[in-house]
Amino acid sequence: MRSRLWVAAGAVVVGAALLTPPGASAATGAPPAPSVASLAASAPAGLIPDRPMPEEVARALSRIARASDGRVRLGVVGSSNEQRPIPLASVGTGDVRLLYLTQQHGDEPLGTPAAVRALWALGVPDSAWHRWLRSRVTLDIVVQVNPDGAVRNQRYNHDPSATGEYARPGVGYDINRFHNPLTPIEDNPVPEARAILRRWHATRPAIVVDYHMQGRYLQPDGRETTASVLWPTSTLAGEAAVTRSRQLTVRNADVLTVAAGANVTRYPGGDYEGIARNAYGILGSASLLVELSDLPPEQVDFQIRTAFTSMIATAQGAAGGGLWRTDPTRADAIPERGPSLPDATPQPHADAA
Ligand SMILES: [Zn+2]
Repeated sequence: MRSRLWVAAGAVVVGAALLTPPGASAATGAPPAPSVASLAASAPAGLIPDRPMPEEVARALSRIARASDGRVRLGVVGSSNEQRPIPLASVGTGDVRLLYLTQQHGDEPLGTPAAVRALWALGVPDSAWHRWLRSRVTLDIVVQVNPDGAVRNQRYNHDPSATGEYARPGVGYDINRFHNPLTPIEDNPVPEARAILRRWHATRPAIVVDYHMQGRYLQPDGRETTASVLWPTSTLAGEAAVTRSRQLTVRNADVLTVAAGANVTRYPGGDYEGIARNAYGILGSASLLVELSDLPPEQVDFQIRTAFTSMIATAQGAAGGGLWRTDPTRADAIPERGPSLPDATPQPHADAA
């Protein structure tokens, strides 16, 4: 019952114009928004594999930079422990800064192709809406935070000397436990996390969204969960940042439900301040974790589309300001994630963002 109410509420808010928050056009003079489907279709087929290696990410980003006439700008935020570049792609020149992270866990790849497609969709077409959006936001995406983990299809970074909590001896560190803003950056043993923290401090983004993957779970109503979301739950996060994070979460849950057809639950995440979702909330950003379920191969495109939709809708909501007119208390109505799917392959880290 609760989840049915949730879907109905999302439908009312999002309505037929899937990406346009109510009142956005009147308030901002925004040109009519294209549909998610047309934006997704703007990226060429074969732009990026579903589980790309770092050199495939680099090739796709170079292609986008060329096709966009420089509107998508490429850089790096740093180097991995094995000295691979950690790619940064930026689009837009607006005052509202956004930071998206993909694939901190090397074996959770699908945010990466979604990010590549979103960069094309926002940076290459040059309609009035695109120009409006790019004039209002500056979006930074760290595409594939953990390239060393990606080439090994492993959760951790590559650091055989890793020791201590949140390390796997002989393998590496769990990058998503090393964003603790209370740790001096120079004492942080994880170069990938240091690079993200430094980028945060250099740009102070209003919004941070971190894309991961989870196992397979059921909704309270028995349908399969396809995505879970959560805001900062650390008690160190300030009230204003938590409120804005909850608005961001509600907006994402609405759009993913209605525009992407996702079954969304609340992720049962922990309070540790080293988790990016908590860390960037503590630092003052609106912060969101998006977990795509690890669905069978025939649903991989659907899952990439889900993350793509989140990326586009978040940028749109930030550009028009509709995001901040969302009711944050509706976050409490997002149903809790149900039990693990009985016949799903057990995942050793399924509960560990
Ligand atoms: Zn993860």
